[in-house]
Amino acid sequence: MIAIPRQKPVFRFAPSPNGPLHLGHALSAFLNRDMADAADGRLLLRIEDIDLTRCTPEFEEGIYADLEWLGIGWEDQVRRQSEHFDAYHAALAGLIDRGLAYPAFLTRGEVKARVAASEAAGIAWPRDPDGSPLYPADDRDRPSGERQAMLSSGQKHAWRLDMAKALDLIGGQLSWRETGDGERGAITADPSSWGDVVLSRSDAPSSYHLSVTIDDALQGVTHVVRGLDLFHATSVHRVLQTLLALPAPIYHHHRLVTDATGRKLSKSSGDTGLSDLRSRGVAAHDIRHLVGL
Ligand code: GLU
Repeated sequence: MIAIPRQKPVFRFAPSPNGPLHLGHALSAFLNRDMADAADGRLLLRIEDIDLTRCTPEFEEGIYADLEWLGIGWEDQVRRQSEHFDAYHAALAGLIDRGLAYPAFLTRGEVKARVAASEAAGIAWPRDPDGSPLYPADDRDRPSGERQAMLSSGQKHAWRLDMAKALDLIGGQLSWRETGDGERGAITADPSSWGDVVLSRSDAPSSYHLSVTIDDALQGVTHVVRGLDLFHATSVHRVLQTLLALPAPIYHHHRLVTDATGRKLSKSSGDTGLSDLRSRGVAAHDIRHLVGL
């Protein structure tokens, strides 16, 4: 009998080099490594550096140094998102061609003013699961002639997904398989709560949602292990996967490491930075205990 080789499960750790790694990243990296080992799988490292203004080579170097110090190995071929803007652009162009993305001309300031005016009049403005106001409908409803004229005049714009149209096209309900620390099992996606998400901005050629979805598929990722703060974003990723005919990985959203006041750690949470802890003489093996492993 011919033995058919089993494809190994593929995990990835995908930090953004826009600040020093902290204990929350350490938990995520350890869990990815441990789960990949337990499944006899592979662990990839992806550098999510699409934000060209905030990501720096120094922070990227810091990521490699911190992971090495923690003893977390990864496969050699590191994918840096800033080297793959053409892949994200091609996917975006396809969505535009299919009428599923539209140019969004309102500035952040204009959206803010709109929300403030509505709330001052006592009308709550709908917000996404992260608390950001949903994008107003103006640009989506703009007549195509006017839209073309604005594009031709070179007016700055982002591209946004027409969520209602996308969900109409998809038809049925979307779900994903979840094995993490919150809700588990088959999770029903709720993408409309996000409204018309950004796919690219005038100053950033791709968005997190678009690039993460494409990369997980291109890298053959079968298991996404990341913090619970990204649980709801999975609804958007399921929409993009469906529109772009990409496979859905299994998701494991893990608990977050919090500070003394119970808040999620941020890149600026100084004393929990891994390189700070290292320079203060904390041993790498203590980090596992510090993150509750
Ligand atoms: N780059 C994201 C971060 O550093 C993680 C994205 C993901 O794991 O999907 O928070």
